[in-house]
Amino acid sequence: MGLVVQKFGGSSLKDAERVMEAARKAIRAKHTGNQVIVVVSAQGSTTDDLIAKAAQITSSPSAREMDMLLATGEQISIALTALAIQELGEKAVSLTGPQIGIVTDSTHRKARIKSIDTRRLVEALDGGSIVVLAGFQGVDELGDISTLGRGGSDTTAVAVAAAMKLAGYEVTCEIYTDVDGVYTTDPRIVPDSRKMDAISYDEMLEMASMGAGVMHSRSIEFAKKYEVSLMVRNALSDAIGTWIVPEADWMSEFPVCGCALAADEARLVLEGVPDRPGVSHRVFAALAGANISVDMIAQSVGTGGKAAIGFTVLNSELEKTKKTLGPIVAELGATLSETGKVSKVSVVGAGMRALSGVAEKMFKALSVEGVNMKMITTGDIKISVLVEEDLPTEDASTDSDGEPIKKSHLESRKALRGRKALRAVHAAFGLANARKGAGVPAEAGTTEYKVRRNPLMVPASKDREAAIARLEGMEDVLVSGVHLNAEQSRVTIHDLPDKPGNCSKVFTAVATGGILVDMIVQNLTGPGKAELSFTVPRADLTRALKRTQDVVQEIDTNCRVVGDGDVAVLFVMGVGMRTHTGVARTMFGALAARGINIGMINTSEVCVGVVVEKTRGEEALACLKEAFKLG
Ligand code: ASP
Ligand code: MG
Repeated sequence: MGLVVQKFGGSSLKDAERVMEAARKAIRAKHTGNQVIVVVSAQGSTTDDLIAKAAQITSSPSAREMDMLLATGEQISIALTALAIQELGEKAVSLTGPQIGIVTDSTHRKARIKSIDTRRLVEALDGGSIVVLAGFQGVDELGDISTLGRGGSDTTAVAVAAAMKLAGYEVTCEIYTDVDGVYTTDPRIVPDSRKMDAISYDEMLEMASMGAGVMHSRSIEFAKKYEVSLMVRNALSDAIGTWIVPEADWMSEFPVCGCALAADEARLVLEGVPDRPGVSHRVFAALAGANISVDMIAQSVGTGGKAAIGFTVLNSELEKTKKTLGPIVAELGATLSETGKVSKVSVVGAGMRALSGVAEKMFKALSVEGVNMKMITTGDIKISVLVEEDLPTEDASTDSDGEPIKKSHLESRKALRGRKALRAVHAAFGLANARKGAGVPAEAGTTEYKVRRNPLMVPASKDREAAIARLEGMEDVLVSGVHLNAEQSRVTIHDLPDKPGNCSKVFTAVATGGILVDMIVQNLTGPGKAELSFTVPRADLTRALKRTQDVVQEIDTNCRVVGDGDVAVLFVMGVGMRTHTGVARTMFGALAARGINIGMINTSEVCVGVVVEKTRGEEALACLKEAFKLG
């Protein structure tokens, strides 16, 4: 017998009628021969209302008491949903997180799951009941109620599905929400965006972190780590939604599956940073220590012994970031400046690993629209660019703890340039058109999605299982591999005028030569000046340099192009690379301890890449393996 875990969000339970509808869905799944666990969020705006109630009493509530308060929202939902199922004639039992033993750490309001006891669940299921479980909550080792952070019910649902899978069940997880599935981009901004039938975990992780607020990122990390098949679907219809699954072969046919806009980030630049080992480590260790999650990091090559590090954090964490870095900046004799409101536009696609020309096409589309790129970073399956907003974007709405509220309504903000850029990119990649996996049947149903065991990116099952077995808590970061590519060389353009179209010209010239560009970092280094670096295969360096020099001459004769044939690129791959702030710290720390200098940094949801000197590549590989305890 299969097990279906169904999760209903707040809007899908907002009144009695919706609760009955959710109950009917659960009963239907049971009648088709499954055991059923329903995970519920608090009804409608209950959680926000509870936060507002506390705010009437204090502006600095204790996190422990807030968890006590917020957990009540889900407790109402489980009782009502169980009553609804019983009213419709089926057996149901409601259980809270603490009752079944969802054990978390003690970080109130942002707790992470350590373990889930499946005994009580199994007992209730075997007794013939539909189990209705409270999302978003758990209990710490002291016996205190904890919550997982806003939007945390998704994480509960997927974590429970993972725990039941580990216990030997055949599990599918359905996330019911108020949209039909995952779209190629935000349909509120791009009306002709298309619903996808399937997307891989990595693609979804990159999309989710980039503002496609359909699901909580942590829940997708769980799904990937434990290979739980998920479907996001509409609570008000029976239509098939979007499967989020292991990467399938056909996915690599499409360099881009979707694009996204994030408008709640702030960009900071650290300039005049001494270019020596250990500096990035100090900066990012301090941020990690303050639990600030850094999104894009672009460390540029620098000149005269000084480098610049550009990075982005959530607007809501900007003040904290500046405060945290203050003393270090002073000590390094560097300057930290904040560069106004920005929007981040990204494209994502599993096929990007193998197919080239994506950057070129994206930059071209932006250049045609006259959109200037302030910063560029690339991951193995995404490219992100920052565009500046003339008009102030309204701040992300946050709760009293500074936590961003899920599903930010971009329409109500003024990320005008970002939206324009998003539309241009969506059109350039023809994302409105039907394709395999989005309108044209690829392979239907989860079981037919074959896992592509790309040796570089997807760890073999047994490695993954061994790595999982070593984890102390279920939600701990999982670093699955460190890889070295010693066949790269780097091209850097210094003093490139910061104007729309310049990057596009460079990459068009390089791509026309059939040269595959891998990592790209662009950072602003001085007023009106950018530094653009990219890596190409060593065998192509001479040709890449020539093409770059030619095109740069046409742009501005003051630009300098430098080639460096002796670099190595290292990637750390894993799950939870960004939501766990400590990964970059461990990585940069290990390299710093060996005195290995980092020349370029790139980060994404599933991978952190750094460039080091070629002669130290092997040594860096060994020390990172050791730091992440990989055999
Ligand atoms: N009720 C919680 C919240 O609104 C958890 C959830 O909805 O997933 O954040
Ligand atoms: Mg909610």
